Amino acid sequence: MIGAGAAGLAAAHELTRAGRSVLVLEARDRVGGRCWTRRMPGLEIPVELGAEFIHGEAQVTHALLKKAGLTAVDSVREQRSLENGRLRRVNAFIEAQKAMRPAASLERDVSFDAFLARQRLPAKTKSFARMMVQGFDAADPRRVSAMSIAEEWGGGELGASQPRPQGGYGALFDWLANAIMARGARLRLGALVTKVQWRTGAVSVSGKFLGDPFSAQATRAIVTLPLGVLQRGPLRFPQKRRALAKLAEGPVIRVAMRFHRAFWEKRAPGAAFFHAPQAPFPTFWTPLPMHAPLLTAWAGGPKAARLTGSSTRKLIDAALASVESMFGKGPRALLAAAYVQDWMHDAYSRGGYSYVLVGGMGAREELAAPLDETVFFAGEATDSEEAGTVAGALRSGMRAAREALG
Ligand SMILES: Cc1cc2nc3c(=O)[nH]c(=O)nc-3n(C[C@H](O)[C@H](O)[C@H](O)COP(=O)(O)OP(=O)(O)OC[C@H]3O[C@@H](n4cnc5c(N)ncnc54)[C@H](O)[C@@H]3O)c2cc1C
Repeated sequence: MIGAGAAGLAAAHELTRAGRSVLVLEARDRVGGRCWTRRMPGLEIPVELGAEFIHGEAQVTHALLKKAGLTAVDSVREQRSLENGRLRRVNAFIEAQKAMRPAASLERDVSFDAFLARQRLPAKTKSFARMMVQGFDAADPRRVSAMSIAEEWGGGELGASQPRPQGGYGALFDWLANAIMARGARLRLGALVTKVQWRTGAVSVSGKFLGDPFSAQATRAIVTLPLGVLQRGPLRFPQKRRALAKLAEGPVIRVAMRFHRAFWEKRAPGAAFFHAPQAPFPTFWTPLPMHAPLLTAWAGGPKAARLTGSSTRKLIDAALASVESMFGKGPRALLAAAYVQDWMHDAYSRGGYSYVLVGGMGAREELAAPLDETVFFAGEATDSEEAGTVAGALRSGMRAAREALG
């Protein structure tokens, strides 16, 4: 197994349940990949730097949480948007969804921007739709397939409730990692795979384990590398070039800020999400229903592409400037701590999550197809129904494990 994110751990879970011997090779010094739950002194609640919510139906996520003895806690969806200098009530999800309704009958795929340009809609609806495709899907509206967005938003994911796993996603992945090891799986952290060679029924992988060269042999391998890593290397599969060219990895930057007090609770009581479409970080949220002085700043798509690679100081500055555009001067002096994660700049993810380019419908299935019944592919980008989510990654891992078991 290459990778110990959601897909890798779910695949290993299936394989160990079937009594197979499993070696999991993970480049980072932790499991979870694009789910990364941290703790911040002064906060009772976990701080997520990757996935936080359970989107859509996510049956596999709920089933695993149940097995792990964990629950999901509903989040609050009350929103405010900055309009002409004032915070107004809004439901950006529903506004955005209105814009995509006519796309259900699209006969030819076009970009999201081209599709939107053809619609007669209020400017506000278009603006929220564009903000959502960038923020929620981390996609560039000029490049993303309108058909794929219509399919996703039409499924109700955007408007659905968004619970959080109790204890953060980290609690679930710690449980999964322990469960697979208890059944005999060997998990190596700090194992960077750089080469995979195979013929039918025999695979050899090699790379560096804690800096030293290593190699391992198996009858099958499951590759769960993120799309951005498959596109940019070091490990490449030329057989997947066509599928990889039809998908893109969306950049996402998160800044988790702890303040000395939750100043927003007085300004907008009950509000959980804030939108400032013009700001560098156009969306923020609070941990409601939990009360804690934590504000998450989020930039996705082209806004994140503009900022990626910047210094931590610059990213925190941009996040604070965005907060100030909404709440006025003052929050900067109240900042107590900040964690920053720039997923496009992270060598082991090379982006936040995947999206489909114009004309790319079917590329996820192409990427998922095994090679010579020996190398199997999983990861959120390979899931045809819940791509871009933890549930999609878990599903893909289970699917690849079933394929590998024959
Ligand atoms: C900021 C952010 C917020 C998100 N929010 C949500 C959310 O609220 N809800 C939701 O459902 N989804 C969310 N997602 C998406 C979700 O996190 C991903 O879809 C999911 O975690 C992907 O899992 P994966 O196993 O496919 O990939 P990963 O988690 O990336 O796992 C791949 C693993 O491979 C490892 N790896 C990479 N290169 C190598 C190598 N050469 N050798 C060995 N190992 C390697 C990586 O370190 C990683 O651990 C979010 C993602 C991000 C980035």
